[in-house]
Amino acid sequence: MELKKQILTNNACYKANQKIKVKGIMVHSTGANNPWLKRYVGPDDGYLGVNTYGNHWNTYTPGGRQICCHAFIGKLKDGSIATYQTLPWDHRGWHAGGAANNTHIGFEICEDGLTDKTYFNKVYKEAVELCVYLCKLYGLTADNIICHSEGYKKGIATNHGDVMHWFPKHGKSMDTFRAEVKKALEGNSKTETTTTKPTTTTTTTTTSKTTTFKEKDKVEFKASATKYNPSSSTIPDWVKEDYYHVVTQTKSNGKAVKKGGKTCVLLGEKVNKKTGKTEDGINTWVAIENLTLVGKTTTTTTTTPAYTTYTVKENDTLWDIAKAKLGSGLRYTEIVKLNNLKNDTIYEGQKLKIPN
Ligand SMILES: [Zn+2]
Repeated sequence: MELKKQILTNNACYKANQKIKVKGIMVHSTGANNPWLKRYVGPDDGYLGVNTYGNHWNTYTPGGRQICCHAFIGKLKDGSIATYQTLPWDHRGWHAGGAANNTHIGFEICEDGLTDKTYFNKVYKEAVELCVYLCKLYGLTADNIICHSEGYKKGIATNHGDVMHWFPKHGKSMDTFRAEVKKALEGNSKTETTTTKPTTTTTTTTTSKTTTFKEKDKVEFKASATKYNPSSSTIPDWVKEDYYHVVTQTKSNGKAVKKGGKTCVLLGEKVNKKTGKTEDGINTWVAIENLTLVGKTTTTTTTTPAYTTYTVKENDTLWDIAKAKLGSGLRYTEIVKLNNLKNDTIYEGQKLKIPN
């Protein structure tokens, strides 16, 4: 779905400003051969194109136009299909001519000559997606969706034939429509659980500390070490193949042991690097600058936030944002959840968390 928003604020219905508790959705089609959205939605936002007749439903006329639905599906000026939201979803629309106005969101699919199957399939799919979106938004099911002619049979709308004068021409009906919405809703709830667990990266660093060692610390020789300490003999390579336990760093009087000006530690028992077994020791004073502490690790846990932040721009819809940031408009519910939104109303400048 390509959901855009252009609220028809000059329309008398908008100005009446009544709210409803949404209990269902009513599907309409316009009953006129004009698939262009600009016929109904205006002014031109760059996508719609200019309505040269100046007769879209947002034109100012005394008292405003006395009819309005919540959305239109039709063609943009480039011929692609889009949905325009034209009233806040919980605004009382004037689309049914009956009690359905008090309970139902109503949207119009712009009719063409009714014979173009390609156009039909596109707007039908768009309408299914719009209904999926709205069902999720208001906790509705596919059974809460009717078309205008079904509304008439229930006594809650005027006597119009839409959309059952059109859908069957292309092998569809309100039953196939509801079935497709139902299927999409079920499919969605399955993938929806792949949301937002913070990603935790654990980095383990071996601390290398050369200033001081404690008794029983396990150390190894640095590869660069050549002599045990400045005043002793050269370190044979095999010595570097094992770990050693520190015996002490001080003399019996508690003072540090220095040899050739370097602080030393006394190394005792040897630990085989491969087997981990303790063997006999070397009992040698070694300059601590030659040694690295091993076996003690510091674990740093970095928690990366499970979201990024997005600032809402004018005319953004949750659907647009989900489509742009998450790859699918249907994932807008993840944004709703993450931000604890009560409905789909967002405002310019609002900071939204977007799942990673
Ligand atoms: Zn209708």
